[in-house]
Amino acid sequence: MPPLADIYNKQYLMAAGPTPIPPRVSQVMAEPITYHRAPAFVATYARVLENLKAVFQTSNDILCFASSGSGGMESAVANLLGPGDPAIVVSCGKFGERWIELCQAYGAEVIAIEYEWGERADPAEIDNVLAEVGGPPKAVFVTHSETSTGVVNDIKTINEVVLKHNSITVVDAVSAIGAIDLPQDEWGVDVVVAGSQKALMCPPGLGFASVSERALRMAEGQEGRRYYFDWSRTAKGQRQSPPNSAFTPAVTIFNALDVALSLILEEGLEQVFARHAILARAARAGIAGLGLSRFGADDPNANTVTVAELPDSIDGTAVPKLMRDRYGVTIAGGQSHLKGKIARLAHCGYYGAFDITVQLTALELALRDLGWEVSPAGSGAGAAQRVFAECGAPQPA
Ligand SMILES: *Cc1c(COP(=O)(O)O)cnc(C)c1O
Repeated sequence: MPPLADIYNKQYLMAAGPTPIPPRVSQVMAEPITYHRAPAFVATYARVLENLKAVFQTSNDILCFASSGSGGMESAVANLLGPGDPAIVVSCGKFGERWIELCQAYGAEVIAIEYEWGERADPAEIDNVLAEVGGPPKAVFVTHSETSTGVVNDIKTINEVVLKHNSITVVDAVSAIGAIDLPQDEWGVDVVVAGSQKALMCPPGLGFASVSERALRMAEGQEGRRYYFDWSRTAKGQRQSPPNSAFTPAVTIFNALDVALSLILEEGLEQVFARHAILARAARAGIAGLGLSRFGADDPNANTVTVAELPDSIDGTAVPKLMRDRYGVTIAGGQSHLKGKIARLAHCGYYGAFDITVQLTALELALRDLGWEVSPAGSGAGAAQRVFAECGAPQPA
């Protein structure tokens, strides 16, 4: 066992994933393991599959895999692409790069539309590239909430462009589902992938793919280089009545997800999105209050992660470490070339108003420890507090 102090001293997990989870979700995971073909679990499984449709805002089956979010992404690549197939990838950060790497791993010919980290994708450019490439329908891979930079892409417009070219959009919504509105059926998005450990308020361990009939047919026409991740096999099992999973489902996480989805639906999707929007607004105000610039495109829909640029005068890599080791607040710093340059404040899932003030206060203390004075003390949390005074201080259900 790890030293108990490391996990039982009061800690604030404030990352975008894994995220903190509601006590009721933790509790259900302590119950005995159920047999996955026994009625008690089958009833839970059926309910989870139905409630997932409500949260993904679709009538598609949400195909479930025992994997992290990247497994949901890999399932899309494995089912839609073969060696030599063209794949159009829109990338503006770490997770867009993951699409590129995945498509390359499956031998696809990647046509990458790349942006600086912190920029948003430009639908007009995607339109031009699709027109240039021409030919039969393509899969276009894109990230909804780019968790590495806080940027949120305009999926509605991107998807309109892609549909115009008779192609399909595959959206990585791992950090977006349950935080930002993505009405899949209303917008006609063909594939949305997600994972359990972000705004869905569960531990890591489930990957999802919400796949339209059209995308399923495209996949069926694609030669097999997949087994566990085969969409048809999983869809076939999930579509039986009662549903019957093709493989052993991660029963414990399904039990957790059952509780988490009911909490989300009890709060109401609209209310959940509104809460995230207020938390993000408060985080943006707080960063300005600390005298820092915000990193990334200015966007009122960027509601999962709010990113601060760290001052050049301090050692930025020390910021998340000090916040965690001295103040017990775990946030994420920058990845790759943004390491030491940014601090990412998360509000994605089981987050409420005071989680924002906690993050801002710990950030301010760490900055002061490194020689960056904020005056008067509490300016960051104070600015967030003014947003809560105006809009209410929302808490999750
Ligand atoms: C977290 C995340 C993923 C998946 O990461 P895993 O570690 O495989 O769960 C993919 N895309 C985005 C945008 C994410 O935030």
